[in-house]
Amino acid sequence: MEAVSCIFCGDRGTRPYHAENGHQAVACNDCGLVFVTPRPTEGEMKRLYEGQETKVNLGLQIRNVERAVYEARRALDLIGRHVSKGRLLEIGCAAGYFLREASLRGFSPTGIDITGPFVRYATEVLGVDAREGTLASVELAPRSFDVVYHRNVLSHLAYPLDAFRQMHGLLRPGGCMVFQTGNVAELPGERWAGTNELDLPDHLYHFGEKQLRLLAERTGFEILDVQRYALLLHEPAPRAALLRLQSFFQTNGKPASTKREMAEPFVVPNEVPSRRFLQTLEVLVDGYITYDLGAVVPKEGRRATLVVIARAR
Ligand SMILES: [Zn+2]
Repeated sequence: MEAVSCIFCGDRGTRPYHAENGHQAVACNDCGLVFVTPRPTEGEMKRLYEGQETKVNLGLQIRNVERAVYEARRALDLIGRHVSKGRLLEIGCAAGYFLREASLRGFSPTGIDITGPFVRYATEVLGVDAREGTLASVELAPRSFDVVYHRNVLSHLAYPLDAFRQMHGLLRPGGCMVFQTGNVAELPGERWAGTNELDLPDHLYHFGEKQLRLLAERTGFEILDVQRYALLLHEPAPRAALLRLQSFFQTNGKPASTKREMAEPFVVPNEVPSRRFLQTLEVLVDGYITYDLGAVVPKEGRRATLVVIARAR
């Protein structure tokens, strides 16, 4: 374990924020950034990920293809308003569905991911350019990308300032970075009492809009827009109802076959038409609630997902 201090302010003091899974998140007294300290070292984190089949689960990803494709198309609609072609890098590309959608839109996409089976599925089954590793380990030509995209990756990064500087270095001047992350640092720690919703210690850092602006400013980005969508389905009552509904509809049980799907050669699960239909419906309803209703409800004090569009200065 290693103790860390605020990436923006150094050691200006912290207050306890939330504890779960035997780990402690604190909030910086100065800027409000929420982060895990002490935290597992890099080697410990790697072992932790490898032992967690549920978190990094290829079988689950393949079965949730509708959701992955929905999110990919949404993000690409947004990216398309700023950049319409060229080289695109996705950090944390998972099973590669975003890369496939991006290439259908005319981009030349490349993805990186730390999880071997994801990368092999992306290259062997989807036929996209995905590489195993991290920003630090995969060799990518400087200033060669028009777009950098990442979704729900920022919280996992052990060194967010370094990572953003690296992303900046990969973009052509004027290139765009689009990413999505939560707004945890805007909410009081009590919001999470008794839950393990923050996914500690996998999520090492939690930002809000203020801290995202600091991060962008210090790494050479100019923020063009921050979109905010209330995660209505994550609020306690709808969440409980949704979980009940899901367990009612889940007919073919979950992870029994997961191990087999993760093993190579890949076994793509049988497509059950009725199940696919329900899944598509669920994704559309979820998407409508999050991105349509979630964009217009009062957002003060609500958990939200933030979509940030930034340009490399
Ligand atoms: Zn701070």
